[in-house]
Amino acid sequence: MRYISTRGQGEPLKFTETILTGLARDGGLFIPETFPQVGDRLESWSRLNYRDLAFEIMSLYADDIPPAELKTIIDRSYRVFRDPETTPVRPLGDLWLLELFHGPTYAFKDIALQFLGNLFEYVLARDGRQMNIIAATSGDTGSAAIQGVRGRKGIEIFVMHPHGRVSPVQERQMTTVLDPNVHNLAVKGTFDDCQSIVKSLFGDLPFRDRNHLGAVNSINWARVLAQVVYYFYAGLKVLRTTGAKRLRITVPTGNFGDIFAGYVAAKMGLPVERLVAATNENDILARYFQSGTYSLGQVAPTLSPSMDIQVASNFERYLYFLAQKNAPKLVQWMETFKATGSLTPGVADDPILTGGRGDTADTLRTIREAWETHQVLLDPHTAVGVAVARRNLSPDAAMVTLATAHPAKFPDAIRQATGEDLAHIPELDALAAKPVRCDLIEPSPQAVGGYLEAAISR
Ligand SMILES: *Cc1c(COP(=O)(O)O)cnc(C)c1O
Repeated sequence: MRYISTRGQGEPLKFTETILTGLARDGGLFIPETFPQVGDRLESWSRLNYRDLAFEIMSLYADDIPPAELKTIIDRSYRVFRDPETTPVRPLGDLWLLELFHGPTYAFKDIALQFLGNLFEYVLARDGRQMNIIAATSGDTGSAAIQGVRGRKGIEIFVMHPHGRVSPVQERQMTTVLDPNVHNLAVKGTFDDCQSIVKSLFGDLPFRDRNHLGAVNSINWARVLAQVVYYFYAGLKVLRTTGAKRLRITVPTGNFGDIFAGYVAAKMGLPVERLVAATNENDILARYFQSGTYSLGQVAPTLSPSMDIQVASNFERYLYFLAQKNAPKLVQWMETFKATGSLTPGVADDPILTGGRGDTADTLRTIREAWETHQVLLDPHTAVGVAVARRNLSPDAAMVTLATAHPAKFPDAIRQATGEDLAHIPELDALAAKPVRCDLIEPSPQAVGGYLEAAISR
């Protein structure tokens, strides 16, 4: 399999080159040249366990890694999960919840970042290389990436989070990790500022080459690939259990990475009739799917901070397909959006993708109802998804909603919704007493770039 940039420049790359490169040198995102068609394998895939299925899917895309090595990487990545099924799916009234929070940091980011950490270690050792990772987090990517690479040889990681805008648990999951290769930066700005600093530093080619920059945000194709697996795993299981012929899947969405993995699964042949992007009040994507215009608003802090995003980096991958793989057209769209903060692609509606918004009142009501009716605690991101999913049910399809984080990461929201202090895990509570390391920094590529170079020269 070869990978090309959405912006059309440069030679196609192999899988491991794509993963090490992160963001394409022309500023675009990598996508595979084709999507393997697997419709005739679904029946046999529906009987595989998570790791075997992961191997089947990933070996279609990671074909420059010897099969035995890929198996080892997959085993190492998923044996650390607390649930034997890795990503179990359970009923919640009239829909299914796909639980993605059984990894080390209790959010779905672990599924891709455990894999990426092991993959980096393998490729860097193979090639005798080093890497300095620069990452932006809206809350959960940071700790998952840190757990994926802490203490690994040849890797330093610099994680920017928006100062004061992640939950206290999320913040301490990052800043209490004291391994010397882990550097936490609290940026005086929003997640969009952090993400734009990542893109600027990658866009500065001399800086990028000199410092061997690596990416763990979902601009990295390996993130999307690892997430494709659970769409098949859960989707096939729900189809088999319910006897339904088609799926609807609702995804709590911020950067559009997770739902893009669902889009890939659908393109490969998983019978998905609808993918619903559920957003909170930061609803640029929900508005796009309703109005056809993608237009920037102000970021508002909400109960679901990991979705407090306006500029969704992976939306570019989707727009590329909307442009029918016409890279010059995509470049023009991206330039229009950058210059004006608004874009109306003006092409026909997508038959699969749609969007919806769940606001703070929906979030609190959904958490309370799930607790009172089913004795299930939903984290606020998952609650946005469930609220939006309920408005998109169909008698002809089974509805799956992605449960993206464990409620104990957001005990304040749970208390606000139920009036009770219900969501706690001793391991997370214990973080409050641990020493922390973090530096406050100005929201500019110069400040962050200077910090990185000073740290790695020490
Ligand atoms: C990251 C995150 C999301 C959003 O996922 P994207 O891939 O950025 O769309 C939703 N919920 C939680 C809990 C997250 O950590």
